[in-house]
Amino acid sequence: MTAQLSIRDLSKTYRNGTRALRGISFDVPPGMFGLLGRNGAGKSTLMRILATLQDPDEGTIQLGEIDVIREKERVRETLGYLPQSFGFHPRVRAERLLDHFAVLKGLVDAASRRDVVEALLRRTNLWDVRNQRVGTFSGGMRQRLGVAIALLGNPKLIIVDEPTAGLDPEERVRFLNLLSEIGEASAVILSTHIDEDVEELCSNLAIIDRGEILLAGTPAHVIAELRGWIWRRSVTREELPALESAHSVISTKLLAGKTIAQVYSETSPGPGFESVEPDLKDVYFAVMAGLRGARAAA
Ligand code: ADP
Repeated sequence: MTAQLSIRDLSKTYRNGTRALRGISFDVPPGMFGLLGRNGAGKSTLMRILATLQDPDEGTIQLGEIDVIREKERVRETLGYLPQSFGFHPRVRAERLLDHFAVLKGLVDAASRRDVVEALLRRTNLWDVRNQRVGTFSGGMRQRLGVAIALLGNPKLIIVDEPTAGLDPEERVRFLNLLSEIGEASAVILSTHIDEDVEELCSNLAIIDRGEILLAGTPAHVIAELRGWIWRRSVTREELPALESAHSVISTKLLAGKTIAQVYSETSPGPGFESVEPDLKDVYFAVMAGLRGARAAA
């Protein structure tokens, strides 16, 4: 399938000298796309460029037939952007607010606007609270209202910047399910930290760090490539330093009071280790440790 969005050789250096993007290239097919990276990796910079809120220094972005950097007005007509946080006036009621944004999107006919607003409030599960002031909304409700706003005008591309911070687990699941539903009809780019939901929800992903794309692909494919390379053993705190100097320990976690170390190795690292089925976290840590992906090849 043709890519919805193609990003080529995109670079951005801020005035203070920070190189936020260093010539990144990747394609975003239809569906939900996870852009994974830690704080400072360059995710928001990329999102803001895609949303036409700032310009890159170099590179091209093609959204279907639209040149994103040159044809900003056309992009804005077909794009929904959900930023990390947004300030709503707390005393405005949800329906009123959405209606206001619908007017800004150019929905001038009152009757059709009412239909659109109602459909979006129902879809984001906010119909019952449409007359509540947004100041009384929970974080999850506010995010869903953000989605409703982003969906005005049937965007082909929806950009969601680190959406789940501050949401409780139930709200997160609800919110991510809503996004993946939307991803069935449009391309959705979700920028986020590593977590289990991405593996389940995203049809494609890329790992970004220090302004570089280190790995891109489908979750199933990048995980399959790691099969046979991840080993696990329970260790004492005293044993850990020796293990870390002898092997590539990609992560440690506490399980029932014991430390479980996960090691990246082509063959068994030694007695007591069991081979484990990798998951997306293992992929992420192996890539961040420079054992896999662009940094490993370099
Ligand atoms: P992320 O969204 O992955 O946390 P950002 O794109 O916000 O990453 O930041 C990438 C890098 O650019 C970081 O080092 C950050 O400090 C820097 N940065 C972001 N915005 C600005 C700005 N307006 N001016 C200077 N540096 C910035």
